[in-house]
Amino acid sequence: MKILAVDTEVIRLPLEVPFRDPRGDLSFVDHILVRARTDEGLVGIGWAFSLNGRNTASLKGAIDELKLALVGRDPLRLGEVQDGLHHIAFNVGPGGLITMARAALDVAVWDLRGKLLNLPVADLLGRRRDRVPTYASQGLWRNYGPEELASQAASYVALGFRAVKLRVGGEADPEKEVERVRVVREAVGWDVDVMADVNQGWTPWRAITLGRRFQEYGLYWLEDPVPMLDFAGSAGVARALDVPICAGEYHYELAGLKRLLDEQAVDILMVDLLRVGGITGWLKAAALAEAYQVPVVSHLVPEVHVHIFAAIPNGLTVEYMPWSFGLFKNPPRLIDGELEVPSGPGLGLELDEERIRRHRV
Ligand SMILES: [Mg+2]
Repeated sequence: MKILAVDTEVIRLPLEVPFRDPRGDLSFVDHILVRARTDEGLVGIGWAFSLNGRNTASLKGAIDELKLALVGRDPLRLGEVQDGLHHIAFNVGPGGLITMARAALDVAVWDLRGKLLNLPVADLLGRRRDRVPTYASQGLWRNYGPEELASQAASYVALGFRAVKLRVGGEADPEKEVERVRVVREAVGWDVDVMADVNQGWTPWRAITLGRRFQEYGLYWLEDPVPMLDFAGSAGVARALDVPICAGEYHYELAGLKRLLDEQAVDILMVDLLRVGGITGWLKAAALAEAYQVPVVSHLVPEVHVHIFAAIPNGLTVEYMPWSFGLFKNPPRLIDGELEVPSGPGLGLELDEERIRRHRV
């Protein structure tokens, strides 16, 4: 089987729960949808996205240049595809849009491999479970006040979620930050895990001061408390606090992730599918973390992560962020607070062509 052509298009999907943050709101996500078509009629899909229309054209352009590495190749010969991608990208990578573009194409090739072998990607990766833990992450934004935080957190528990993540790091008054964690904990009770994401918003001393206050509310993890390149600061925070420190989503490829592990700057490593280079890169990151006895968690894109987390031995939980669900007729289902691994071949996703047509840019 050979890949004959790779088509790309931009689909602008509105967010069901708009992102609200003092650093900027988001009301839609631009998806660059990739379809790799073969001589046997199979189509592999992948996608990358940019936020609120920024960089969409650049990202699509990068994918359109890199996609030449797929044309004429057999999707089962993934190594050849990867070599081709690196050959085209070597002068402008690694990192940034080039890595994201490579990731979208890598995912499309994995989808094709599954469809060709008539197996879910989870099985190709060595499945060890049929459902994976997940947590509600869409919402509990920084612009929400205490009442909105409490009511939305309770609504996620009512949907069956056993873990929820709120955002902190937007308040000048430290007492207001503590109140945010308190109201979410009181809304969900003690049987539900609560995570807090700072998105690099604090200095190490503020992270330690506030992290100590948060500990009485039993956080499952504190995420990105300090800027991504403050490895020593993150290590200091991790040493000072009992709550596990989670970071890694902002790093491209493997070097930054390895440094987080080397410097003991994380207790839990978060890996971003697009920034690590797709499924192929993700597997390397998971193995790297395993060598350090560190568990991994995912960033965005639950449709792909559900397959990865069904297979890897050190995956804790998948972020439930349904920003791309609108592309599909059958996004992964939430069952008893867990994500079910789709049973169809490849990623097991069926494109919603009617909705895609309506939102094509
Ligand atoms: Mg985060």
